[in-house]
Formats: sequence, structure tokens, C-alpha cells
Amino acid sequence: MKPEDIIAAVKEHNVEFIRLQFTDITGVLKNVAITVNQLDKALDGELMFDGSSIEGFVRIEESDMYLKPDPDTFMIFPWTNNGSKIARIICDVYDANQEPFIGCPRCTLRRAIQEADEMGYSMKVGPENEFFLFHTGSDGEPTLKTHDKAGYFDLAPVDKGEEARRDMAITLQQMGFEIEATHHEVAPGQHEIDFKYEDALKTADMIATFRYVVRTIAKQHDLHATFMPKPIQGINGSGMHANISLFKNGKNAFYDPEDPNGLSQECYYFIGGLLQHAKAMSAITNPTVNSFKRLVPGYEAPVYIAWSEKNRSPLIRIPAKRETSTRVELRNPDTACNPYLATAVMLKAGLHGIKHKIEPPASIDKNIYNMTPEERKELGIDRLPENLLEALTYLQADGVIQEGLGDHIYKRFIDAKKYEWQSYTEAVHPWEREQYLTKF
Ligand code: ADP
Ligand code: MG
Ligand code: MG
Repeated sequence: MKPEDIIAAVKEHNVEFIRLQFTDITGVLKNVAITVNQLDKALDGELMFDGSSIEGFVRIEESDMYLKPDPDTFMIFPWTNNGSKIARIICDVYDANQEPFIGCPRCTLRRAIQEADEMGYSMKVGPENEFFLFHTGSDGEPTLKTHDKAGYFDLAPVDKGEEARRDMAITLQQMGFEIEATHHEVAPGQHEIDFKYEDALKTADMIATFRYVVRTIAKQHDLHATFMPKPIQGINGSGMHANISLFKNGKNAFYDPEDPNGLSQECYYFIGGLLQHAKAMSAITNPTVNSFKRLVPGYEAPVYIAWSEKNRSPLIRIPAKRETSTRVELRNPDTACNPYLATAVMLKAGLHGIKHKIEPPASIDKNIYNMTPEERKELGIDRLPENLLEALTYLQADGVIQEGLGDHIYKRFIDAKKYEWQSYTEAVHPWEREQYLTKF
């Protein structure tokens, strides 16, 4: 969209506020709301804000930042706030010298996309987004109760969660999402909404928007939507499987009809790169203490670093479809990840595999969970980090993933996450009291 078209649309639809959106390092969507009067200036990229107030962005002394709106992301929200219409534009963050800011996750993804572009590739990503819907209590705070657990005697004709999910899908469609599937997931209260794959940057924007829309619509139904990866012990957690392919000259570069598996050499190298960097990447794709409680055996989440065409237990699965749909499905990312940083490191790892011709190990078509530790060792099957601290240690040893993040984001990410880990280890958990309070 051209700036003048945006201004025309804003006038035509009586939009009162425009939210300029960007994400911080942790992936939380931030907003600077402006009125229509400031739109001209904003579209020219002249709008400044104080970056020191945003998590992990800058030191105080260099806090002047510019927001550069990406006009292609302009959109009017289908709902109103107290009767007024609101639009949004997603922005890149620029520094005081009018250069892309090194701490801007969206600019970081742009850098990885540029690297792919120089090799002739464009990355496509299709995410599978899972989340839980919980009731809010009489105090308005979220509970862990799900509607569909209400049981046999609940005579409500339609499940409240199902109704909310249908509303989410309709709203997303109004906002230009092509919804490919929506369904109830395995766990009570768990849902999944998949939308069609797109160019990497667009998909990352869509994931950020998606989370915002899902939370907003849930609230309208008096439900709390959470993207926390493992809210409840003993049932499945929420993942965000990433379907990834590279296109070259308009064709899927992962497809090769001559290969027995229908996969190109580039696809094998890309898998090789993903597997080689999987441990360090997990700090970004699974960035919370809680993330690693999902990555345990028994709940359809990956634990072991391997790839397969048939089995769903390894980290990477190759779905059966070929030609345009040829893709790798990376199964460990979760819904707490920053979509820009997660996509940037996945691309970086895969491109590293192509550049350095990293052959993946043989594919594993047996169920890895049923193997003995000796069998896994013999086949050279390693496991993902067991917790956030371990993942951070691998990230600190992986120059390729660090380069993908850039020095600024890498350092601030490590600092923030080390702090998170420290605060977690110092906390006394209910589990400990259950185990020890009466025993000792
Ligand atoms: P299936 O029917 O085999 O389950 P779909 O083709 O419907 O799979 O796709 C499942 C997910 O993978 C969707 O998010 C879809 O958009 C995505 N996807 C399909 N083709 C590609 C591709 N070439 N690159 C990236 N993602 C893709
Ligand atoms: Mg699922
Ligand atoms: Mg999947």
C-alpha cells in the first residue's frame, strides 16, 4: 500500500487511532498509538520514541529511536474500541542515525532474508499455532479451568471454547489470513489454528498479529487465551511447528523428482544445518523456563535430534506432500518464541547447512522413544537441551546462531534469560513442599 492510500483509507473508515506496532526482544508486541494528525509524519518515518522504556532495546543514553512503518502491513481492526475504529501498521525500528536498529528483531529477520536472497532463495514459513483457552474467574483473573472439561452434565449446546475459536477464525479471515485448518487439540481446552504459508517476514508479522487477535477475541468471550508452552502438567503443551521451504526462481527448491525421497540436495543440507544448530537454536525457539517442560517424552513434543519422513517423534518431520508443498517441519518451536528471532535463526541454520554442505545423518523411521539409551547412542541420536540454562550454554558456544541474532540482541538475550533462570532456581516451588515439607 502507498502512504497516500493509507491516509485515504483512514479517512474513509473514520479511523481514530493508528497503532504503530513492533516487538521487543522477548517477542511481546508493543504499541505506540498515534492520532490521524500524526500519520503523515509517521509514514515518513519521522516519528521518534524513547527506546529505553522497551525491554532489551537500548542503554538509556542512546534512547532516541525512530519507527519506520511498513506500509504493506497496514490494516484496520475489524472490531471497535468504545465505538472507534483502530488501525495498525507494523514498524521497523531505526536508531538515531536513521540506520536499522541492531536491537530490532524484525530488522534481524530482514538481515537473514537478505542473506538468503543473495543466494537466490526466498524462505516460506507456515506455522501451526496451538493455545489454551481458560475460563476467567469472578475476579477477572485467568483460571486453569477449561470449558470442555465441564463434563457430562453440561447441557450447553455449543462449547464456549469452540465458539470463541470460530469467532477467531472469522476475524482473522477478515484481516486477510487464509485459514487452512482449525481444530480442537488433544488436551482439554487446547486449540489449533493454522494459516497458509507465506514469505518469512510476512508470516512472522502474521504470528505476532495472530497472538494479539486470539487474546482479544478470547477476552470478548470471557476466556483467557494463553500461549504459555506448558500450562498444565500431565497433558500436552502448546507448540508452534514451523513448516519451512525455500523457493528459487518461483519454484520449491526443496523438491527434486529424481531423488528417491523427492528431496533436493539443498533440502538435505538445510536439514543438516537445522540439526547441527538445533541445541543452540532451542534457546530462541523455546525461550522460557516453561518451554522445556513441554519437551519431554510422552506428549507428542520432540525430545531427540533426528529427522524422519514417517515418524512424528523426531525433531524434524518431512510431510508426505511434494512439488510445491515440499517442506521440512521443525517441531520444537513453541508459542512463547519471538517469531522474528525464531525465524531468523531457523533460516540462518539452514543456510549454513547449504553453504557448508552439511549432510544430515540417516533418517530415523523407528520410534525413538521406544529405543534404549544404548540404541540411541549407537545411532548417534542426541537429545535437545533439558532446560533453559543448558540451551543458553549451547547458544553461547554457537557462533552461527549468535551471528544470526547479531551481537546486541545476543548479549541482551543471554543477560535477560540468565536472570530469568536465576530467579526460577531461587523460587521454592509447590512440588518441593509436596516432597519435603512433611518428610523432613
Ligand atoms: P497437509 O495437507 O499435508 O497436512 P498442508 O499442505 O495443508 O499439509 O500444509 C500444512 C501447513 O504447511 C500449512 O501451514 C501450510 O500452509 C504449510 N505449507 C504447505 N506448503 C508449504 C511450503 N511449501 N512451505 C512452507 N509451508 C508450507
Ligand atoms: Mg497440533
Ligand atoms: Mg505439525
